Amino acid sequence: MRIMERKKPHKLLMLEAILRRLKKTSPNYSYFLEYHRKMNAGFAGERYVDRIWQEMNLPSPFQLFHDYCFVNDAGFTHQVDTVFVTPHFLCLIEIKNIAGRLDFDDVKRQCIRTMANGKVDSIAYPVDQLLRHERYFQNVLTQLQLKLPIVKVILMAQSSTMIGQVSVECPIMHSIGLPHFLQKQWQRFSQRALTNREFDQLLEQLATMRQDKLWVQEIAHEELKSGVLCPNCAYEQKMYYVQGSWFCRSCGMENNEAFDEALQDYRLLRESTITNAILCKEFNIPSKYIAYRILQALKFEKVGNNRYSQYKIPES
Ligand SMILES: [Zn+2]
Repeated sequence: MRIMERKKPHKLLMLEAILRRLKKTSPNYSYFLEYHRKMNAGFAGERYVDRIWQEMNLPSPFQLFHDYCFVNDAGFTHQVDTVFVTPHFLCLIEIKNIAGRLDFDDVKRQCIRTMANGKVDSIAYPVDQLLRHERYFQNVLTQLQLKLPIVKVILMAQSSTMIGQVSVECPIMHSIGLPHFLQKQWQRFSQRALTNREFDQLLEQLATMRQDKLWVQEIAHEELKSGVLCPNCAYEQKMYYVQGSWFCRSCGMENNEAFDEALQDYRLLRESTITNAILCKEFNIPSKYIAYRILQALKFEKVGNNRYSQYKIPES
């Protein structure tokens, strides 16, 4: 089976758009900057660990779900970094990309991080997170009347992370240990627990229950920079449409991709559709006729059929 690449989560795309658009004078700028740093480090860690799957010799059949989001009965959204499903067992994986030393305490349900500079803080206990996920997947299996062992593991993306005290409830290891860990599970559960039909039934159910959560942020329009912004000028200068191309008057750069990026920012932070008039106003396009030609060239899906037509901005 083909291993699908992990997509950037909606929250990270939103944070990237916010940091391009939010004026640095906004009181929330530093909050989003720090949030983006954490999210980006987490995503980089997950992508790093994903490379291990490509190098593994995995017995078929199997299915990998990266960044699996689901809504529990109480209406809360949960996210599992990776769900690995085989007819022998199901494995829930939590990936941590954290520097320093980590000590897990099953009694206090706390994970203490000690940084190289001696600074100590506590992070949400990842074992509890996985136990919650395990209960959810167990319920799914029970409802389908299927019996499949569930195993769980916490992986450290950075080899420099020092794992101190560990949990007895959940294996915690460096990501390099994943192939060996899975090999041991195949030996432990050498008998198939599911038939091909049951395995397909489970995959179908997991695909149906998957729900990507949209991260909504209400940011006042006046706090956001409008226009097509120059990436070469750290998104501080506007670009102008001149003879079919986008130019920055400050650095002289010509970059048509900056327009695609600006449309995505508009889709994420403002509206998923755009009109000819708004395109003109938001992106400083000299005339509605030119804006119309740009919209025609983009081939966006048109909603409505008069001068107030909306055009759907697709996900990039
Ligand atoms: Zn520039």
